[in-house]
Amino acid sequence: MIVDLALKSPMIHSPQSDKDLKALRFIEEMTRNVDFVQKKVIKEILSRNSETEYLKRFGLKGFTDRKTFKNKVPVITYDDIKPEIQRIANGDRSMILSSHPITEFLTSSGTSAGERKLMPTIEEDMDRRQLLYSLQMPVMNLYVPGLGKGKALHFLFVKSESKTPGGLPARPVLTSYYKSEHFKRRPYDPYNVYTSPNEAILCPDSSQSMYTQMLCGLLMRHEILRLGAVFASGLLRAIRFLQTNWQELVSDISTGTLSSRISDPGIRESMSKILTEPDQELADYITSVCCHDNNWEGVITKIWPNTKYLDVIVTGAMAQYIPMLEYYSGGLPMACTMYASSESYFGINLKPMCKPSEVSYTIMPNMAYFEFLPHEDAPERTELVELADVEVGKEYELVITTYAGLYRYRVGDILQVTGFYNSAPQFKFVRRKNVLLSIESDKTDEAELQKAVENASSMLLEEQGTRVIEYTSYADTKTIPGHYVIYWELLVKDQANPPSDEVMAKCCLEMEESLNSVYRQSRVADKSIGPLEIRVVKNGTFEELMDYAISRGASINQYKVPRCVSFTPITELLDSRVASTHFSPALPQWSPERRR
Ligand code: AMP
Repeated sequence: MIVDLALKSPMIHSPQSDKDLKALRFIEEMTRNVDFVQKKVIKEILSRNSETEYLKRFGLKGFTDRKTFKNKVPVITYDDIKPEIQRIANGDRSMILSSHPITEFLTSSGTSAGERKLMPTIEEDMDRRQLLYSLQMPVMNLYVPGLGKGKALHFLFVKSESKTPGGLPARPVLTSYYKSEHFKRRPYDPYNVYTSPNEAILCPDSSQSMYTQMLCGLLMRHEILRLGAVFASGLLRAIRFLQTNWQELVSDISTGTLSSRISDPGIRESMSKILTEPDQELADYITSVCCHDNNWEGVITKIWPNTKYLDVIVTGAMAQYIPMLEYYSGGLPMACTMYASSESYFGINLKPMCKPSEVSYTIMPNMAYFEFLPHEDAPERTELVELADVEVGKEYELVITTYAGLYRYRVGDILQVTGFYNSAPQFKFVRRKNVLLSIESDKTDEAELQKAVENASSMLLEEQGTRVIEYTSYADTKTIPGHYVIYWELLVKDQANPPSDEVMAKCCLEMEESLNSVYRQSRVADKSIGPLEIRVVKNGTFEELMDYAISRGASINQYKVPRCVSFTPITELLDSRVASTHFSPALPQWSPERRR
């Protein structure tokens, strides 16, 4: 059988191995038979789950076809199935959503009532995810030859996890994967050799984990052919870590001994085989690259000169980091290889070396049953469209039905169809619905921001007679870690006594306390978001903002204050009117346990 992917692309290297050939053939088969595979998937899901409490409720009467399914089963959001999820979390083992036992919950970075959403998963889902992973390198090998001759420096981390009252683990999907036997006992594959030992990846202390992963990366710098993290924000954090810790890392390299800050016995044991002797030459070289204060341009290529590309997602909210990655890497290509979520993994990028602005993901029809809600139309009146029937150029919201028991579930992602590969549509990730602010995996929507502003102002300002009359926000990612900036225009009762810096700082913290658990976890445990900042602007600033919008064509009747701004002339206008700035003085409350 001819592998069309190789023939249709302009690059192109032939498949590197039988394994690659098999994977590429699988992609061909899936993409040629999208509708057939989707029909099979929904049939399988409905027949195996026909006796579940959820499906029985809608009287499918044993029908497993798409038409009946669509007629009888409603399109839902998380809040619609929260009671069922809660019962499973509390220990109800009856067949509520799935006939297969729910083995754990994957904690999504999307939230409901301030807490991470819990996505059910069943044991076999791990195989489905593994299958999608196994397609990435065979595709990449078509574009970048020789990757099997070197290693990958991939910064991978586990995050804290908890147990539901009924005893099921609740953790992020990647934590679940890295802790699984699939990952820990993965068979040797020359195209997937990481420099980071498993002990470092699995260490719950992210600082020890990062230190070790960076040290290994430095020690093996010439062997590294690709460098990455899951999201762009993660790779930038690693660079930031190097900037602030290079002297200690250099000291370890020059003495051949591991810093005492590493207390994890597993890491110490594994590093005893990697850091075996002093290497003064390497230590001197790293020093020569890092000692130039504030000149970090091209640091990635200087330290890892054989890097062929950055393996990192820069689509969606991560696009804001592209300029910084370009600066640090001297313009290396950035490969966005996969599109996935806690609910299900979706698809891969068949042209991983394309420009970030051209990335399209091809959904693999075997992963779940996919439907598409046309984005422009009013949802009540709209028919959902099949995967095979979406139209090029149109935007849709993704709706999925999974083996683990989500039925017609709105994921909240807006995708645009860019074209087809065989009969499989390809999608550009446009945006996440309703997300205002995002630094890394946090997603803050308008209602959450509004509530945070209200809480802070009513608790701390109102008694002094001060009110927030307008506000907007901005995700400041110019520094690492990035942080939320909230612009406030105040109505101060006693002009001679505006709120003190102390009160305003408390407002910052109170806002943080009001934000969702993913935000607070990123602040407290992951340290991937910096302290929230309030910039108080002079009176009349928001009127000027409106004047500016109207001068650019906005209708005066319909003008609404944007609750988030990113357009440079607007942020410049706001910044030029700042009267005072204030930062959160402490960390908000966060623990892995859920609040309710
Ligand atoms: P989570 O369930 O927390 O893992 O988050 C999944 C969400 O992350 C998806 O629904 C998307 O909104 C976003 N996401 C995942 N992969 C990508 C990607 N390749 N490009 C842009 N956004 C992505």
